[in-house]
Amino acid sequence: MDLFEYQGKQYFARFGIPVSPGGVAVTPDEAVAAAEAAGYPVVVKAQVKVGGRGKAGGIKLAGTSDEVRAAATAILGMAIKDHVVRRVWVEHASDIATEYYASFTLDRPNKVHLGMLSAEGGVEIEEVAATNPDAITRLAIDPVRGLDLETARRWVAEAELDAAVREQAASLLCDLYRCYVEGDCDLVEINPLIVTTDGRVHALDAKVTLDDNARFRHPEWDEFAATETDDPREQMARERGLTYIGLDGNVGIIANGAGLAMSTLDVVSQAGGSAANFLDIGGGANADVMAAALEVINADEKVTSIFVNIFGGITRVDDVAQGILDALARVHIASPIVLRLAGTNAEDG
Ligand code: GDP
Ligand code: MN
Repeated sequence: MDLFEYQGKQYFARFGIPVSPGGVAVTPDEAVAAAEAAGYPVVVKAQVKVGGRGKAGGIKLAGTSDEVRAAATAILGMAIKDHVVRRVWVEHASDIATEYYASFTLDRPNKVHLGMLSAEGGVEIEEVAATNPDAITRLAIDPVRGLDLETARRWVAEAELDAAVREQAASLLCDLYRCYVEGDCDLVEINPLIVTTDGRVHALDAKVTLDDNARFRHPEWDEFAATETDDPREQMARERGLTYIGLDGNVGIIANGAGLAMSTLDVVSQAGGSAANFLDIGGGANADVMAAALEVINADEKVTSIFVNIFGGITRVDDVAQGILDALARVHIASPIVLRLAGTNAEDG
């Protein structure tokens, strides 16, 4: 699960990583209230789960309440790479002297954690990696040994961070590593990690991906899950425990298994159609699951037809067929349904 920047910063703060005071807002009035609390000048930042918000006009500096209102009005409702902005984060503006980059993620093939640190932050790290790969200092961390302060000190020196802030940066990196491991993250990234004009090292942005497999030991993640999507169809599907992703077309798709669901999107597209969604009902295709899937697809006004594509392996096709019949008795379906049933007990189905 990816977090919004403001949630990532709240997560960082729990582990002692310095972030700017601020507040989240869904209206211009709320943005002004958040700015008053944070103290002027402020930055008004679009909260969407894609990068490049700065370039897209989703980040604006504001020195007065009028400027905050204007910035929030402009940013709320705008689309950045197809992500509609529903919230802004308003934080006290920082005076930036230098921008660095820092992250931890998994290096799966080598079975280690990978730290990346660069004195050239602020720009997209993919760009630095492509044009100036030596500017990124990589650190492989044995997950059993972890990251100690001595190693972090050598790392910041090797990355040639400003000597005056190396001790602060080393200690921040240890905190960030703790956040990554104890916080059960797949990725933590700070870009830019700044040095302020008065010499403080500080996270100006936050990108956090939580490891969903650890959800069971983090009841506090429920609040993040609640804001995970603004798509009412996805919200509805989540409440029903379905793996569903909303798309823009008009053919509702139900398939069992992620691979078959993906292939179904492909063939619908190859036939000149356009899928309204991805929906994997998994192995258990009983009446409850089918009814839930049909309900979600039926609620999508764009859907004009439904394609159910089931391959019976362990799943028995006759069970699926019965599930569909039971579901049809419970839900009134507005669109015609096309079924493809293959595999175990397909003829009975
Ligand atoms: P991104 O474009 O989505 O990665 O958003 P960031 O949060 O990284 O912000 C992009 C850029 O906006 C930063 O690299 C800064 O140059 C600028 N910016 C963000 N916050 C501040 C701030 O508090 N003060 C100043 N002066 N610039 C800021
Ligand atoms: Mn950034």
